[in-house]
Amino acid sequence: MSKLIQTLLFISAYSASAFAQPVNFAKVTDNVYAFVGEIDDRTKANLGLNANIGLVVTSAGAVVIDSGAGPLSAKAIADGVKKVTQQKIVAVINTGSQDHRWLGNDYFAKQGATIYALQKTVDTQKKMLNSILQRIKSTDPIFHDQTPFYAPKPFAGNEGKVTIGGMDFEIKYFNDAHFPGDAVVWLPEQQVLFSGDHVYLDRLLGVHPHTNAVKWLDAFNQMAQLPAKHVVPGHGAVADMKKAQAETGDYLAQVVDAVSKAVEDMAPMDDVTPSRDWSKFQHLKHYQGWHGRNVSNTYQRLEAAGM
Ligand SMILES: [Zn+2]
Repeated sequence: MSKLIQTLLFISAYSASAFAQPVNFAKVTDNVYAFVGEIDDRTKANLGLNANIGLVVTSAGAVVIDSGAGPLSAKAIADGVKKVTQQKIVAVINTGSQDHRWLGNDYFAKQGATIYALQKTVDTQKKMLNSILQRIKSTDPIFHDQTPFYAPKPFAGNEGKVTIGGMDFEIKYFNDAHFPGDAVVWLPEQQVLFSGDHVYLDRLLGVHPHTNAVKWLDAFNQMAQLPAKHVVPGHGAVADMKKAQAETGDYLAQVVDAVSKAVEDMAPMDDVTPSRDWSKFQHLKHYQGWHGRNVSNTYQRLEAAGM
């Protein structure tokens, strides 16, 4: 890298952190906190933190759930943690593969944290690395500095357990969700669920071409069996399972049901939306921009599967 580019990157990173929004964690329950990111797009000002991040303080150190969209957001998260606890960040757990779930891993690993994830999640992080990097880098040059770092000893299978300072963290995979290999982090004692991108609240969820809505619905339904007192969603305000059901579970179920019926009947895609009442979901942010795409991506997938 030339000196000039290095200097420009430095200036751009410096100015970004100078006006970036700070990360403030709010208490969920004893020793458990959440940062609720904006429910809009990634921007320079939000440092790509248009998603939620979890924090659990144990007697053996702080544990961060998801690491942000690169070193700048990771540093903002670390600064936010310092406002809550003096404890060092000893561990980071990834719930998924989207940029804001794990591109900050390298920053935390360099500070001495152990990175945990399921093998299934790491597989998608690796497989989709190019598109993940392309997406975040195209947002703004401040995101160009990226060093992907994967959990060094990922858990095989559908579950991983980590105990830190006497606190249990269960990493669970139910089925593919927003991304293949998405997982949740469950605190059995506190009954707190960090749902990652299994749950979108206050804004409409997004079914991408890589998203299988049928599997996501199955994952959601299994996840909803957990006796959670608090749900820290992937996006939107901290709530309970009832709200998660209303804004994510019910919407997914209706999309899958309406699209399956249309495909079965060989009805055109345009018939899907008028076939149901969507008024329960229309208040959700980004409904206008995303609902049509969700239906069309689901329709194309189910049609290709020859349902
Ligand atoms: Zn997300």
